[in-house]
Amino acid sequence: MSYSDKHKIKTCTMQLPVRLLLGPGPSNLHPRVNQQLTSSMIGYTDANYYTVMDETMELMRYLFQTDNHFTIPISGAGTAAMETCVSNLIEPNDKVVCLVSGFFSDRIYQMAVRYGANILKVDKQWGSWFSLEEIESALQTHKPSLLTLVFGETSTGVKQQMEGVGELCHKYNCLLMVDCVAALGGVPFFVDQWKVDACYTGGQKCLSGPPGISPLTFSDAACKKIATRKTPVANWYLDTLLLGQYWCPEYNFADGKVVKSDPPPMRKYHHTTPANLIYALRESLILLVEEGLDNVWARHQAAAIQLYQGLESLGLKPFVNELNESSEKGGRLFSLTTVTIPEGVDGKMVMKYLLDNFNIEIAGGIGAFAGKVWRVGLMGFNANPSNVKLLISAMSDALK
Ligand code: PLP
Repeated sequence: MSYSDKHKIKTCTMQLPVRLLLGPGPSNLHPRVNQQLTSSMIGYTDANYYTVMDETMELMRYLFQTDNHFTIPISGAGTAAMETCVSNLIEPNDKVVCLVSGFFSDRIYQMAVRYGANILKVDKQWGSWFSLEEIESALQTHKPSLLTLVFGETSTGVKQQMEGVGELCHKYNCLLMVDCVAALGGVPFFVDQWKVDACYTGGQKCLSGPPGISPLTFSDAACKKIATRKTPVANWYLDTLLLGQYWCPEYNFADGKVVKSDPPPMRKYHHTTPANLIYALRESLILLVEEGLDNVWARHQAAAIQLYQGLESLGLKPFVNELNESSEKGGRLFSLTTVTIPEGVDGKMVMKYLLDNFNIEIAGGIGAFAGKVWRVGLMGFNANPSNVKLLISAMSDALK
C-alpha cells in the first residue's frame, strides 16, 4: 500500500458571486433561513430535535392547508418527494392515469413506468392544461387507482385548474397526486378543500429555502392504500411506513388511521435526517406564518402582474395567454413566467448579458420549449417590486 497525492489539489475556501436568482429555482435564501443553516447540530434523538420536528410538521400543515396527520419533510430534492408518492402509491400493475403536458409531468410518468404501473398517459401539447371533461374521460376509460398531475408546470409556466378535480377522482375511486414544487407558498393551493391525496413541494422555490428538503403530505385515504399494499414499497429509503415510525409514530399507519397512544410510542431511527435543512425549512415556514399565506399569495400575484407590464413595455409577451384566475382552463403561474423569445433575438446571449452585467440569473426553455422561451421566476422572498424593476431595466439594456 502506498499513499498517493494524486487528487490532492490546491484550492482555497470557496468564494462565489452573489446572484439574484430569478430563474425557475433555486431562488435566493431569505437571510433568516440562511442563518438557520448554521445553527448547532443536535442528535436525531434529542428531545429538542423532536420539538423542532413536531413544529415543522405543524407548520407544513399550514403551508399545505391540510389537517393531514401524515405531513413530513422528505430528506431529498423535490424529485425525491415525487418518487415517495410514486413508489408508495403504485404497486406493479396498478392502473394509473398520468396527465402530461410538460417536463415534470413527464418525469412522473417515467417514474410510474419504473414502478410497473399499467399507465394511461394522456399527452397534451406542452403549455396546455387539462379540462374536467378530459380528466373525467381518462378516469372513465382507464379506471385508475391513481391520477397524477402537475399544478404549476415550471417548464411551461402553466397552472392547472384544480376546482373539481379531486371530486372527480374520488367519484371514480381514484387517488389524486399533485406536484406543487413550483407553486406552493406562492400561489393559492388547498390540499383539503381540493381533496388532494398526495402533494409535495421543494424547499428551494417559493419557500426561499435550500434545496434538498421537500415537504410532503398524504391524506388518510392515501395512507390506507399504502398500509394495505400487497407488496412492500420497492424503495426502502422512501418507504413511508418506515418513515412514519420516526416522524409520527403515534399514527397507526399500518391500519391507515390515527391512534393517539399515550404515551406515544418511541420514535424509531430510519435515517439521519438533515437537521440544518430542517431548521431552515422551519424558518421558511415561520416566515410564511408571520406574513400570512394570503398576503404571500397577493405579493406573488402583484410581482407577476408588474412583470407582465414591464415585459409589455419592452415589446415582450408571456407565453401563456390566459391570465384569468378563475378561468375553467387554468392560467398563468404567477411564480414562474415563460416569456416568448422574439424572432431574431439570441436568448442565450441575453441570459449571459444579465448574468455578466447584472448578476441576474434567468433560465432558458427546456425540452419542447428549448430556445423558444425564457423562464423568469419570482418566487418567495424574491417576489418583490424592486427585483422586477431591476430585471426589466436589465432586460431593456440587454435587448438594445
Ligand atoms: N416538479 C417541478 C414542477 C419542478 O419545477 C421541479 C424542479 O424544478 C421538480 C419537480 C423537481 O425538483 P428538484 O429539482 O428539487 O428535484
